[in-house]
Amino acid sequence: MKDNNKICVLGTGYVGLVSGVCFAEMGNLVTCIDRHKDKVEMMRKGKSPIFEPGLSELMKKNIKKERLFFETSLKKGMKGATMVFICVGTPPKKNGEADLSHVKKAAQQIAKNLQKYTQIVIKSTVPVGTSAMTERLIRRHCKAEFDVLFCPEFLREGSAVGDFLKPDRVVIGATDKKIARDLVQVFKELKAPIFVTNRSSSELIKYASNCFLANKISLINEIANVCEYTEADVEEVAHGVGLDKRIGPHFLKAGIGYGGSCFPKDVHALNQYAGAKGYDFKLLKAVIKVNQQQRDNFVKKIEKRLGNLKDKRIAVLGLAFKGNTDDIRESAAIEIIKALTKKGAKIQTYDPEAINRAKEVLDGQVRYFRNPYSAIRNCDLLAITTEWPEFKKLSWRKIKTLLKNPIILDGKNMLDGVKLRKMGFDYQGVGTSNGTK
Ligand code: NAD
Repeated sequence: MKDNNKICVLGTGYVGLVSGVCFAEMGNLVTCIDRHKDKVEMMRKGKSPIFEPGLSELMKKNIKKERLFFETSLKKGMKGATMVFICVGTPPKKNGEADLSHVKKAAQQIAKNLQKYTQIVIKSTVPVGTSAMTERLIRRHCKAEFDVLFCPEFLREGSAVGDFLKPDRVVIGATDKKIARDLVQVFKELKAPIFVTNRSSSELIKYASNCFLANKISLINEIANVCEYTEADVEEVAHGVGLDKRIGPHFLKAGIGYGGSCFPKDVHALNQYAGAKGYDFKLLKAVIKVNQQQRDNFVKKIEKRLGNLKDKRIAVLGLAFKGNTDDIRESAAIEIIKALTKKGAKIQTYDPEAINRAKEVLDGQVRYFRNPYSAIRNCDLLAITTEWPEFKKLSWRKIKTLLKNPIILDGKNMLDGVKLRKMGFDYQGVGTSNGTK
């Protein structure tokens, strides 16, 4: 065990908890801090407050090996730690700007407990200049020596543990390469390329990466919309385009637009940041607009099929923003349900993991079911809004008998449209209406 690497992780959301657990798995001694006492109690027992494949197992293993601890007290967590990782949320303000209040609060709390030289590593996604601002803030409150580094996190919810332990690259932002040495050492065993740069560049790398990916999604969604005027099928087009090594096959999935806690927030934040500096980032504005349009189009397609939605019963399969997570932040499914209920539709919905979280934000005519077939029973139309793998394995023969009308709108292009049409379903994907899907 590398006793020299005593790490404290502040914030135990998707990034903080996964980072803490993985750092422990890598052999470090880790204490994770969260302000919620009940959450800390739960985590001490090896129970993860978030659904993330493989996470609970690793938590239990490392708690047992006595290298993973949970505390509400930062003082206890920082005792003997050589590094403190800030993993708190940076949610969007109303104007799209990143809200840095949690980062600032974390910095003040760290300053209060700083006794000896410590490296403070920001993992939260923050605008350019935040590491420098954090450094100034801590300096104002304490006399001990420290450095502030930035190390963006690129994990994806749903495959977070694997992404953390097998990253494409690790990016480290520091004022000096020498300062980055200890952090390079921590990540070295992951055998990924480690890129050390200055703090501003590292801060922008995170936003630029997410904006690039969001851009790719909006572009393929626009191509999908064009496909709907033609005999072309966006799935085939995306495959053909993705075979080009310069483009690659990833993030070319057409559908109801990107969601989640990162892409929408980060695209808005960079757009807002650029605007505040006096630069009009036209491309990002278009990316945002197209993403909203995909959701609106999906609702319009439902209206086209059913006419007036008042009292129409619609089955919505999927609430999470994507499969394999319980996260519903900025989920297209949630927005679509809100739009449908506003038009008077009655929603019957099922999601394997996200129902409890959805109940907190949805009201009105929404009924939740613990299995997909009950949600589908007696509905006028079935909408697929999250790509949960289990939806592929449903018995479509049974579903045909349960639906009032055999209409399926597949917002994720995840089902076999050819087979479903042969079975007599009126199936429509996104950008695939006349194609092979
Ligand atoms: P989250 O909201 O799920 O978790 C934040 C956690 O921090 C919460 O548990 C909260 O209780 C805790 N917290 C906040 N202030 C605290 C304080 N002062 N002391 C102790 N605990 C505190 O957020 P998240 O999804 O983990 O994201 C964190 C950051 O990482 C964000 O900036 C996000 O943009 C970025 N990020 C997220 C992802 C992702 O997939 N979720 C991926 C890459 C980067």
